[in-house]
Amino acid sequence: MAPIFHPVLVIGGGLAGLRAALEVKKHCDVAVISMVYPVRSHSCAAQGGINASLGNVPEGRGDTWEKHAYDTVKGSDFLADQDAVEILAREAPLRVYEMEHWGTPFSRTPEGRIAQRPFGGAEFPRTCYAEDTTGHALLQTMNEQAVKNGIKVYAERFVVSLVVRDKKVAGLIALNRLTGKLETYAANAVVLSTGGAGRIYAETTNSLIMSGYGIYLAYRAGAALKDMEFMQFHPTSLFQINILLTEGCRGEGGYLLNKNGDRFMAWCAPKSMELAPRDIVARAIATEILEGRGVNNEYVYLDLRHLGERIIEERLPGIRRLCRSFIGLDPVHELIPVEPAQHYTMGGIDCNVNGGTEIKGLYAAGECACVSVHGANRLGGNSLLETLVFGKRAGESAAAFAMHEGSDMNKSSQDAIEEEYRKAVEKIKGREGKEKIASIRNDLGRVMSKKVGIFRKENELEEAVEEISNLSARFENVHVSKGTVYNLELINALDLEAMLALAEIIARGALLRKESRGSHFRIDYPERDDANFLRHTIARLAPGGVKIEYRGVAITKFKPEKRVY
Ligand SMILES: Cc1cc2nc3c(=O)[nH]c(=O)nc-3n(C[C@H](O)[C@H](O)[C@H](O)COP(=O)(O)OP(=O)(O)OC[C@H]3O[C@@H](n4cnc5c(N)ncnc54)[C@H](O)[C@@H]3O)c2cc1C
Repeated sequence: MAPIFHPVLVIGGGLAGLRAALEVKKHCDVAVISMVYPVRSHSCAAQGGINASLGNVPEGRGDTWEKHAYDTVKGSDFLADQDAVEILAREAPLRVYEMEHWGTPFSRTPEGRIAQRPFGGAEFPRTCYAEDTTGHALLQTMNEQAVKNGIKVYAERFVVSLVVRDKKVAGLIALNRLTGKLETYAANAVVLSTGGAGRIYAETTNSLIMSGYGIYLAYRAGAALKDMEFMQFHPTSLFQINILLTEGCRGEGGYLLNKNGDRFMAWCAPKSMELAPRDIVARAIATEILEGRGVNNEYVYLDLRHLGERIIEERLPGIRRLCRSFIGLDPVHELIPVEPAQHYTMGGIDCNVNGGTEIKGLYAAGECACVSVHGANRLGGNSLLETLVFGKRAGESAAAFAMHEGSDMNKSSQDAIEEEYRKAVEKIKGREGKEKIASIRNDLGRVMSKKVGIFRKENELEEAVEEISNLSARFENVHVSKGTVYNLELINALDLEAMLALAEIIARGALLRKESRGSHFRIDYPERDDANFLRHTIARLAPGGVKIEYRGVAITKFKPEKRVY
């Protein structure tokens, strides 16, 4: 059977993927291929908001895109590429107003403008929001636009491989989850927008599907990955359940308290307090717990009580609902137990400001990509923004490429390709070992959270590399059901293969980076070291395994300085 052909294929139906597809559609035909139906992508879970220097509230007057850019670069601990950050901040108002015009129900100021709240690391209230379910509002709007523009969606397809010939993309192979059959798709250009890799960690706010498989797809096909050791830990997830409680809680004035009732942020960020950037707040919480000032030595409190019922109902109703349904507690009257948890993948597929990767015709956008606008630490509200700004740009470039380049997937090579990938999948599917996927996955999560987490040090990172390698060996002896229809065990096994590979890259990158910068904190090297490490980590697949190199950071306006909040 001939492959299904579209000039451009977008993998992933989250905000980045749909925004890219809408842009392609202005120029040529496009289809979105996604593991879940688009509105179920993790983008729908985003709570707190999206940044743009609109200056809509009185305290925000005087905000400019340059100030947004500066805050972002400072937040990134100067690792972000400043040319990319300028684009992000400059195009932010355009993209937010576009969403408004498409119908996103943003919360409003009394005058009817888009409301904006303070967020961590930002000088002005810059975060536009729709109560505390901003991602849901944006994704529904975007999906409406996709439907309206007739964008074809292949849902329930798990892409198992990109097809790349001579460093040029030709299409992809997907597993149809409903039938269990492999399908071949040809395309002149492919956009990857597959989201982050948070599930590699035991404690994470990310949905179950966020294994990082798309990042692995690109890596295995020969693309470079950038800055994978930079993982964001969000300060406030519900204790033990790890559902996110948005930074908007602190943006609206919430406090963090230790077991003695002290607002401990006064000790490490006296000016910004609870609204210091996430790396700093997460470390402060972890330190309180480690030094015995956590409640039961396990968590701290998020206190919203002083905000009062009206503000909570008006601006954080989802948070109240989450607390009530998951732990039977009402934040209007009670303290919320919180702990840090993995939240965001700052690194990802190395790409330029137009989404271009080292593979011709392959583009990346959104959380799976690393442009890099977040550097060593992302500011809250900047990643929803990234999906829109760089989703659009990647779509534009992919369309331009697809209109003058053809796919090299002809009939004979297609047969060979299908055979090649069918074998790869069948090999995993047929495994009849004794190991359980879930048990390896749990062990991996624990190693990553414990030894490649908020605090890192040499001997533990070395142990982590070794333990990951042992887990990979156990993976060879895994048991995977042979079923066809909705064989989730097979998908889980494929995911685990990707997670093990990415975990190794994260741990090795962290081991080699002998400094502390943003989210990467080395107890044995507690200072930032610009002389040796003001550079991006670039990881590539080489014959002997992962090969790590470094690349300079683009610095335009803002010279690296000490970060004080
Ligand atoms: C709980 C939570 C709250 C957040 N709140 C905020 C916030 O308030 N503000 C902010 O700026 N950021 C926030 N973030 C981060 C932000 O939501 C994400 O970074 C962003 O939405 C990612 O969008 P995306 O389009 O890149 O990927 P996603 O929305 O994750 O979509 C990924 C898509 O890829 C598909 N996919 C993946 N692998 C495959 C495969 N192998 N084959 C086929 N399809 C595949 C999936 O089906 C999915 O459609 C939050 C994140 C979380 C987890």
